[in-house]
Amino acid sequence: MDLTCTEEEEAFRDRLRGWLAEVLPKLPPKPAATDWPGRRAYDAAWQRMLYDAGYAGLHWPVDAGGRGATPTQHLIFLEETEKAGAPYVGANFVGLLHAGPTVAAEGTPAQRARWLPPILRGDEIWCQGFSEPDAGSDLAALRTRAVRDGDDYVVTGSKIWTSHAEVADWCELLVRTDPEAPRHRGISWLAMPMDAPGVTVRPLRTLAGSTEFAEVFLDEVRIPVGNRVGAEHDGWRVTMVTLSFERGTAFVGEVVACRRVLAELARTARANGRWGDAVLRRRLGRLNAEFAALWRLTQWNVSAAQRSGGVPGTGGSVFKLRYSHARQELYDAAAEVLGGQALDAAHPWVADRLSALAYTIAAGTSQIQRNIVAERILGLPKGR
Ligand SMILES: Cc1cc2nc3c(=O)[nH]c(=O)nc-3n(C[C@H](O)[C@H](O)[C@H](O)COP(=O)(O)OP(=O)(O)OC[C@H]3O[C@@H](n4cnc5c(N)ncnc54)[C@H](O)[C@@H]3O)c2cc1C
Repeated sequence: MDLTCTEEEEAFRDRLRGWLAEVLPKLPPKPAATDWPGRRAYDAAWQRMLYDAGYAGLHWPVDAGGRGATPTQHLIFLEETEKAGAPYVGANFVGLLHAGPTVAAEGTPAQRARWLPPILRGDEIWCQGFSEPDAGSDLAALRTRAVRDGDDYVVTGSKIWTSHAEVADWCELLVRTDPEAPRHRGISWLAMPMDAPGVTVRPLRTLAGSTEFAEVFLDEVRIPVGNRVGAEHDGWRVTMVTLSFERGTAFVGEVVACRRVLAELARTARANGRWGDAVLRRRLGRLNAEFAALWRLTQWNVSAAQRSGGVPGTGGSVFKLRYSHARQELYDAAAEVLGGQALDAAHPWVADRLSALAYTIAAGTSQIQRNIVAERILGLPKGR
């Protein structure tokens, strides 16, 4: 892995910095976390600006509508946008970071042409319908049924914890197409339009007060067979592709943000007198080393994914496991720096501390990541 920037990559950084300096001051104020239509419009408008300027889907393959950027350019993009305080992917986390990449890797040319350009332009938002009330860690236990009827599947069941379902146009949906087959072999991966008759979304309110996710009920929803990505009953393999993007590369931009927050913690501690506490200083120093190591791991994962045809490997579980705990430790340290202010729910670090609690559960819990690392990377025997 060569991480030295070429002249071309440095020129890319300069152009990007210039563009960010020009456009960021013109952005409207960020909508409130509870204003979903406002959030959707804000995130979509930013995505459209990236698209028009040639920065959307930077590292996606060119034949999937991307710009075919080098891993280094991709990382420069993440670093510079974060340093400049640019918006992150927001409501289209799923579309841009794992449903889109899955369609790019596994979809037919017609599917890529239908779904990828609207994701990159910010026109269509995706959500993820994988988890069910009795199928979370044990995802292959999913029961949502899809019965073939002519050119459609008729889908009945329910999903839970579907992030951003309230504003989504499409859902990457896992269904059981063969109930007789061994459970990993009877699953298919479908793209479901969220406005199809029979889809009901019931938002769930989080500890932080926002309806980040929802229950989704499916009552004889007709989904064209042409919306299936991958072969019928081969959805488990496609799911592994989606999860490898979700765990391997979807969070990488956030590492830069955490490093920025860490620097702000040190500045705040110096200003409010807490810097004199040697235990706190050691804690911040250890976190600094931790995030520096995570950034190196990010660089390695992004480069390794590019080398292996764009799909990240199981190394993503190592990253996801350590990152989600480091993020929680970061915001615990923030609470210590804030002192009494840590009780002020309006403080951004307090809201981020609450949302950090979910990181060791979302995208596969830490226990599940440990199982994957143990079995698939370290080669330890499977637990009973
Ligand atoms: C913020 C957030 C956003 C989410 N967004 C989405 C989304 O958009 N779409 C979606 O489909 N899902 C989403 N999820 C769901 C998430 O993927 C599941 O919550 C997660 O996989 C855990 O499943 P579960 O909640 O059913 O817990 P369970 O699977 O019931 O687990 C309960 C506990 O048992 C442990 N456990 C279970 N099996 C094992 C085992 N084999 N070995 C050791 N320990 C085990 C778990 O680690 C956990 O501590 C989201 C979750 C969160 C928190």
